[in-house]
Formats: sequence, structure tokens, C-alpha cells
Amino acid sequence: MGADAFRDELTGLLSKQTITEYIRNAMSVKAEYTCYLCVLDIDNFKYVNDNYGHLFGDEVIVTVADILKEAVGERGVVGRIGGDEMLLFLENIADRADLKSILRTVRSNVEWAYKDVKEDLNLSCSIGAAAWPADAGDYDTLFKIADKMLYRAKENGKNRYIIYTPELHGDVLNAEDVTAYEVQQSKSVGAGNKEQFLMDFTEYFMFRNIWNIQIALEETGKAFDLKEVNIFFDEPAYSPMHWRADGKPVETKFLSYGGTTQFRQLFTENNLAVINHISNMQYTCPEVYRELKEMQVTAALIYRMDNGVPGYITFYKEEPTSRLWPESDKAYLNLIGKMFALFISGR
Ligand code: GH3
Ligand code: MG
Repeated sequence: MGADAFRDELTGLLSKQTITEYIRNAMSVKAEYTCYLCVLDIDNFKYVNDNYGHLFGDEVIVTVADILKEAVGERGVVGRIGGDEMLLFLENIADRADLKSILRTVRSNVEWAYKDVKEDLNLSCSIGAAAWPADAGDYDTLFKIADKMLYRAKENGKNRYIIYTPELHGDVLNAEDVTAYEVQQSKSVGAGNKEQFLMDFTEYFMFRNIWNIQIALEETGKAFDLKEVNIFFDEPAYSPMHWRADGKPVETKFLSYGGTTQFRQLFTENNLAVINHISNMQYTCPEVYRELKEMQVTAALIYRMDNGVPGYITFYKEEPTSRLWPESDKAYLNLIGKMFALFISGR
């Protein structure tokens, strides 16, 4: 550490000592409102150093630090407590939804920071969070809980944040094992949480404009454990938009099978086509069958945008075994399709 022990030399964030003292001090008085402690760690940072060099690694740390400063603003303090590990203490925050919106911003800004310049970098970070005074009364315990959540975020596939929720996580300080149920829960949002996702989607995408279309596609894909989410327009002048779970670029420029009569007949009055398994399409809609098979898609929901800007929103899945789309997924994705259509047509 440099001459200024108050701040971290590389990033200008608070040093470990400064931020810990600050938080201990803040926690020494009686709690009047909820504060959140968040531990962030860059994912696969060794890979960044090994493949792009230590200097670039330093630049990445600075970029992440800047994203944190901007996202937190006046709402708390940010420090660097290890190589690629940073700490946030959020004090001026309305509620859990507010916390989520900050963490989502951080998560997605980190993910998108180098997308245009270094496509193969796939930068991401994981975050664990806990609340004071609800979860713990002293700093050490609070840190341990947030750190446990960070550990789970890493274990569950990284590139995510987990906020400690007693009903879901239980007594994490004394329990070492993560149940299969929880892994499942945070990998794809569980049935109950899809309802929460729909509320977040409505709020962040439709009302508050915190998510742009690209982020909305991505969040939907992750929440429903999809392989791809695409928006295609009838009018070739409009560029399609894509999100893919594996991050690879999508070659399809246009929904090539969209023109056939059989395809149009798939849609219900809710503008939704349900393809439970592509093999059902082999004879009825061979174009759809061929294209989806080529893309290794096994099941699809397709929403037709029929007013405003016409086109299709395609939710693609790849599942090893044939399974019907759950009723709730059909309902939720139908609604999400409708909201995308509204958003795109400018309401
Ligand atoms: P994980 O996703 O599990 O976090 O994996 P990881 O590769 O990020 O592993 P970990 O967080 O343990 O690795 C942190 C690495 O950060 C190890 C160290 O070589 C590197 N590092 C620590 N300080 C600095 C620094 O100041 N600059 C650079 N470029 N690298 C640093
Ligand atoms: Mg790391």
C-alpha cells in the first residue's frame, strides 16, 4: 500500500483499514435504519491476469472500482479489501428493492464494461450482501454472512448477487452445506421467484428505465434458464436483438421461417406459439424444425408483436429430455413478450 493509508493507491477507493474502521464506527451506535454490507469479488480474475497481463488486470480493477463508485454515489462508501475484492457499505438506501437495483446495475455494468473492446473477456463479478441490524449486530458477524453469500454466488455459477434471506439460507454461520434446492433456486429463478422477477422486470424495464432492452433480454434469459432470447422484426431495416446464454454471437439475421402459413397458424389469440418439442414440427412446420434443430434448440415460446412494430420475440430452450412448458412459464413469458412489444412500439 502507498504512502496514503487512507485510500487504496490503485483505485482511489478507501483502504481496507479505513473502510473497516468506518463501518465498525457506524455500527457502534444504535441502528435507526437498515444498512447493507456487500462483498464483491471479480470472477476468474486469475484468468484475466494470465491471459491479458497484470497491467490489464490492474486496469480491470480500476474499471470495476469506478463502476462501484458511480453506482453507490452518495448512498454509501466503497473500499478495496483485497486483490480483486471490494466492500460496499450502503447507508442511504430506501429498501431491499433499492439495494437490488444498485447490485443489478453493478453486476450488469461490470459484465458490459468490455463487451465492445474485448469480446472474449467475459468479465463478471459476484456479490454477497447482508443487512445491519437485521442479520447481525457486529461487524465481524455481518461480514461473515455477506462473505458466505459471496461464496454461494460463486458456487452457483458466479456473475450474480445473493442477498442473505434467513427464510431461504437459514443459519449460514453454522451450516456448511448448500442444499441442492438452493443451488437450483439461484441458478434459475424458482417458481415462486418468477413472480418476483416479473415485478422487477416491470419496475426496472417498463417504469424506471434502469434496464435497457439488452439487459431485459439477458435478465429474462437467466431467470427462465433459456438458451437464447431474440427479437426479430418483420421489417428487415430494423436490426434484430439477441441474448445467448453461452455469450456467443448469433448468426441468424432474420427469422427465416417467419413467412410460412403453417408458422402463422401456430399462434393463439394471445399471440403466443408454444413449441414443447421441435420434433412435433418436423412435418407440420419443417422450416421451423430445421432452423431450431440447427441451433440446438429443443423447445420454444414465440411471441408475435402484431401492432406497433411487427415482429417476433423468441424464447428458446435446450433440454436433454422432452418436457412440456410449465403453465407458469407460458403465462409469464407471454406477459414479458407483451411488455417488450409495448416498450418497442413506444407505447
Ligand atoms: P474466483 O472467480 O473464484 O474469484 O476466481 P479468481 O480467479 O478471481 O480467484 P481469486 O479471487 O482468488 O484471485 C484473485 C487474483 O487477483 C489473485 C492475484 O494474482 C490477483 N491479484 C491480486 N492483487 C492484484 C492486483 O493488484 N493487480 C492484479 N492485476 N492482480 C491482482
Ligand atoms: Mg476473484
